[in-house]
Amino acid sequence: MMFRQARWIEPLLNELSKEDNVLEKVKLEGLPEEMVREKIDIPNLTETRIVRHFMRLSQMNFGVDFGIYPLGSCTMKYNPKVCERIVSTPKLKMLHPLQPQETCQGILQILYELAQCLVEITGAYRASLVPAAGAHGEFVGTLMIRAAIKDKGELDTRKEMIIPDSAHGTNPASAAMAGFRIVKVPSNSEGLVDIEALKNVVGKKTAGIMLTVPNTLGLFEKNILEIVNIVKEVGGYTYYDGANLNALMGKVRPGDMGFDIIHLNLHKTFATPHGGGGPGSGPVCASKEVEEYLPVPLIEFDGRKYYLEYDRPKSIGFVRGFYGNISVLVKAYAYIRLLGAKGLRNASERAVLNSNYLLSLLDKRFYEVPYGTGVPRKHEFVVSVGEALREKGVSAKDIGKALIDYGVHAPTIYFPLIVQEALMIEPTETEEFEEVEEYARILNEIAYRAYNEPEWVKGAPYNTSVGRIDEAKASHPRTMRLNWRNLEKV
Ligand SMILES: *Cc1c(COP(=O)(O)O)cnc(C)c1O
Repeated sequence: MMFRQARWIEPLLNELSKEDNVLEKVKLEGLPEEMVREKIDIPNLTETRIVRHFMRLSQMNFGVDFGIYPLGSCTMKYNPKVCERIVSTPKLKMLHPLQPQETCQGILQILYELAQCLVEITGAYRASLVPAAGAHGEFVGTLMIRAAIKDKGELDTRKEMIIPDSAHGTNPASAAMAGFRIVKVPSNSEGLVDIEALKNVVGKKTAGIMLTVPNTLGLFEKNILEIVNIVKEVGGYTYYDGANLNALMGKVRPGDMGFDIIHLNLHKTFATPHGGGGPGSGPVCASKEVEEYLPVPLIEFDGRKYYLEYDRPKSIGFVRGFYGNISVLVKAYAYIRLLGAKGLRNASERAVLNSNYLLSLLDKRFYEVPYGTGVPRKHEFVVSVGEALREKGVSAKDIGKALIDYGVHAPTIYFPLIVQEALMIEPTETEEFEEVEEYARILNEIAYRAYNEPEWVKGAPYNTSVGRIDEAKASHPRTMRLNWRNLEKV
């Protein structure tokens, strides 16, 4: 291999040619005796073995670039590679968040324009790009509601955040962290907010409502305007969880429906996958009434230059270092510019079409549809295999494991909690009809096997490098073996 050697390496290499253990022989001049390690306790492997090990590991994995990955609620879609290329440019990579603003007008302009696009898409008044993910956006939004209530001098009375039982689980968690008491409203038989139940819980104590739209059953709240009115009439604020905007963008705008605060998950809808542990981005969009509470800094333009505005006295303040996860933000900007208004609307239409097409192909004797049977779903849907569990002992988890044997990824399982043995399936807009049909065929075949050879399904997967793992062991820090040293000790 050709590389320029650093000067200090030469004596080491000379020693290496004479002795096997360099570190035992070479005296590192100037270091205190007790700091010099005689022997470094690391594995001794050749480059060939290491490369082959990691290449093999990479092939044991599954990702959206390998096949359909219909994790409901997560929007694991194929994202254009051009967006990745754009964020890999050295012009972005070499930027430093502390460099003078005159020297990074380009990125400020991109962020300013992205915020404007999101305002346009949501029908809000202003947007902050700072929040790091969806749940963080919710926390920011609920803190803004808290600040608005405090300004009105009602903090002692308005303490209740209303959250339907079909909401995403992060909603109650975020509201509780912002200091609110959670009041749950049940779903009716159609899987929508029970309006009578809502009327019974609203009042002077109501801080607001957090609505996941579409809800976790994949249903659009058809009474959404009435819900907004009921909450506003008692002086509450309305929060729209827009993490799954690929069901509705270009079709309807939460701002037009009267929502005060909306968060989006750019790492779902806008060209960054949700899985993989980040980074994410959860911009918060606000109506004119509450925009003054948005976190700082906001990006402003004075007609000549772009700058970061910190002087906003009513802001809830800083919620994160710097100005957001820039790589996710730039990908979202590229994606929006690439698709345009029409393209975004098409993406939503295709996401909803794929979801309903897949649902229509499933064997409903096995994959039962809870709530509002026959009502079209949005970008995702939920089915239950509770009957299969009762009759044959085959669970949602078993179906998920069996899918892996067919070379496709399982959907989200056991969520939402209001459905027994739930499979939550989101094919996303980027799957072709053939892929959707193939996924349906596999699901139906597994349903058939679940009734005729249930033991096969319960034992799956058979074709993967790793079968069923001990889930408790795999998640406990003492037994989760991530490095070789642990392996020796445990
Ligand atoms: C994914 C999701 C969230 C949470 O987003 P994170 O980025 O994972 O924190 C919140 N609400 C809904 C409806 C979601 O689908």
